[in-house]
Parts: sequence; C-alpha cells; structure tokens
Amino acid sequence: MDFPLYAPAEEHDLLRETVRALADEKIAPHAAEADETGEFPWEVYKALVASDLHAVHVPEVYGGAGADALAAVIVIEEVARACASSSLIPAVNKLGTVPLLLSASEEVKRRYLEPVARGEAMFSYALSEPEAGSDAAAMKTRAVRDGDDYVLNGVKMWITNAGVSDYYTVMAVTDPAAGARGISAFVVEKADTGVSFGPKERKLGIKGSPTRQVILEDVRIPAWRMIGEPGTGFKTALATLDHTRITIAAQALGIAQGALDYAIGYVKERRQFGKPVADFQGVQFMLADMAMKLEAARQLTYHAAAKSELAMHGKPQKDLTFLSSAAKCAASDAAMDITTDAVQLLGGYGYTQDFPVERMMRDAKITQIYEGTNQIQRMVMARQLLK
Ligand SMILES: Cc1cc2nc3c(=O)[nH]c(=O)nc-3n(C[C@H](O)[C@H](O)[C@H](O)COP(=O)(O)OP(=O)(O)OC[C@H]3O[C@@H](n4cnc5c(N)ncnc54)[C@H](O)[C@@H]3O)c2cc1C
Repeated sequence: MDFPLYAPAEEHDLLRETVRALADEKIAPHAAEADETGEFPWEVYKALVASDLHAVHVPEVYGGAGADALAAVIVIEEVARACASSSLIPAVNKLGTVPLLLSASEEVKRRYLEPVARGEAMFSYALSEPEAGSDAAAMKTRAVRDGDDYVLNGVKMWITNAGVSDYYTVMAVTDPAAGARGISAFVVEKADTGVSFGPKERKLGIKGSPTRQVILEDVRIPAWRMIGEPGTGFKTALATLDHTRITIAAQALGIAQGALDYAIGYVKERRQFGKPVADFQGVQFMLADMAMKLEAARQLTYHAAAKSELAMHGKPQKDLTFLSSAAKCAASDAAMDITTDAVQLLGGYGYTQDFPVERMMRDAKITQIYEGTNQIQRMVMARQLLK
C-alpha cells in the first residue's frame, strides 16, 4: 500500500456514492415512519439485500460481497445518515457473525454465513443479561452437555433485532467453576424449540430496530453448533467487539453527518434580523466545531477499521483494542454533541417531530451505551495504556 493505511481508496468513494443514492431514495423516506411506528423497516431490508449491502463483510467464499472493514464502515455510516435504525441491519449482521468468522468450524461458517449473505436470514449477538451488562462475564445462562447435545437455559437481555433475526450467537456458561474461561459461544436458531422473545423494549431512539429479550428454556442444540472450543466463548465475544465497536462508531458518524447536513441547509434558509441565521458568527462557530469533531472522529474510525481489516486477515494489531474503543467513544460522544447542537440550530422547530434532528439526537444516545458504555470504553483504553 503506498497510501496511508486509513485512506479510502477510489472504490470506497464509489461505494459511498452508491449507498448515499440508495439511502436518499429508499431509506430516508421510511426513517420517520420507522421511528414513529416502531416497526422493523422490511422495505429497507429488501432494498439493502437487492443491492447486496445488508451484510457486506461476509467473505466471498461464503457467498458474500467480501468487503473490507472500511467499506463496511462506509455502508453503515451512509445508511445511518438517513436512518439509524436501518443501519443496524448491516451492523448487527456483522456483530452476530464476527464470532463465527473468528472462531467457528468451517461447517458452522458455511451453514450459517451463506444464508446471511443471500439475505435470507439475519444474525444477532446475545451477550448481555438482565443482571450482567457491563460485567458481562457475570452471566447466568447455562449450557449443559447432554450426549451429543447442549441444553441451554437463561435470559439474554437487550438483544438487537431479536425476533427478526433467524440466528443468534449466544454466550453461555459451560463450566461455572471457571469464571470467564467457563463461558462458551453457540449458534442458536429462532426455530429451535424453547426459544422465545420478550416484548419489544420501549426505547428513546432506534425505534425501528426491535430490542427484546431472548428467552431460552431447555433449548437442545447439537454440540457442533458450539463456536470454537469449550471455554473460549467470552474471549471470542470480546475479540468480536474489537471489530464491531468500529461499526458503532460508523453508526454514530452517520447520525452526526445527517444532523450536520440538515442543520447547514436550515441555517442558510432561516432568516432572523433580516438575514439568514448562517450569517451570524455565533452560528458559524457552532457549525465549525460540529464539523471539526465529526472529521476527527471519522479519521480515528477509519484508522481503526484499517487495523481491524489487517487483524481479520491473520495480522494481529496490538493497538486494535485501544483504537476500536477510542473510535466508538469519540464518535458517539461527537454524535451526541453534534445532534444536540443541530437541534439548537433549528431553534424551536428542531425540538419538534416535524424536523428530523430531534430523532437523530435521540438515536445518537444509544451509541454511547451499547457494545459497552463509554465509561467501559474509557476503562478499556486505560487498561491498554497501563498494561
Ligand atoms: C437498545 C439497546 C440495544 C442493545 N443491543 C445489544 C445486543 O444486541 N446484544 C447484547 O449482548 N447487548 C446489547 N445491549 C446491551 C448493552 O451492551 C448494555 O446495556 C451495556 O453494555 C450496559 O449494560 P447495562 O445496561 O447493564 O448497564 P450497567 O452495566 O448496569 O451500567 C450502569 C451504569 O454504570 C456504569 N458502570 C458500570 N460498570 C462500571 C465501571 N466498572 N466503571 C465505571 N462505570 C461503570 C455504566 O457505564 C452505566 O453508566 C443493548 C442495549 C440497548 C439499550
């Protein structure tokens, strides 16, 4: 590579143009409706599948587009610019399947990645529990070996796209005496007997993406559905987050870009004191700060994505954990600031549902919470610095 590691190539720019055009035409028009009704945007899912943008990270050998980590970031960013809920389609398909890409047998990869690549199934990730959030290793869900099977019991909480996904990476305790080393990862199917879902959580934002409990009652699955070796599930879960916190950063960037773009258009049109409010220096400085924060977070995210790509291809990157936490933290904090300022720049109109920035502000908040709160990201970064 003779260009900086994190610089988008020409194909990345072309991809961005393609996704932006699709998002403007087929995703943005459904965004307010998905927010208002809380219904999963199936039309958007179909449009993403038709353009092969629903799970771009799946390697070509499994029938996927084989896009690199930066390309996945760009897709999520551009979808989120129009609709944060919809951006969880490519993001959560990646979150659910990275455990397989990192650790699963070839048989498991083939069986489950191919339907995802074809757009026939979505894949969610089930780590959190009602009593085990930041301290995910305190999980109680059990998987007990019984002959050639495992039998799973427990409740997974806050699972994004639960109910609409057909497949779930589920972390469960196989050896209670071994702590985090006694946790294993499994593929659970929606169709497995004993799998059910809690009611949809009533959330502040990302309302078009269902968040539900996944309830496991005597769910018997064949032992070959374990992802990797017994006791490696927590390690796989954390290694996955090194790659996918970057996709949450991408979602945050997209939401922030959508808000900034809308605010710029608005302040040029809105007139007070006989001129566009964009003419006031107080407004201009706000816009400059918003764009500066966004671009700084974007560069960090692209840099982290480049590291993720190398790590995925057998070249471990010792600073990936730091960079993916830093990108997620910086981009989500920036998105919260930028969307709040966008509401401010629209004045009273910004505070109403007649304009999209209040939705963007509500949607931005989740990026500071999931895949580890930003307190946990700071803990992860500090641990990397001090070790
Ligand atoms: C909409 C939504 C979607 C989600 N999707 C998924 C999903 O698909 N799969 C999945 O597995 N999980 C998912 N989650 C769960 C999410 O990752 C957790 O909510 C998050 O990790 C925080 O856990 P908690 O909610 O239990 O908060 P807690 O861990 O109870 O934290 C409460 C507060 O304490 C702080 N805190 C906790 N520990 C520390 C510490 N050591 N130092 C400093 N501060 C600390 C936290 O930062 C937070 O402010 C989702 C959550 C939401 C809301």
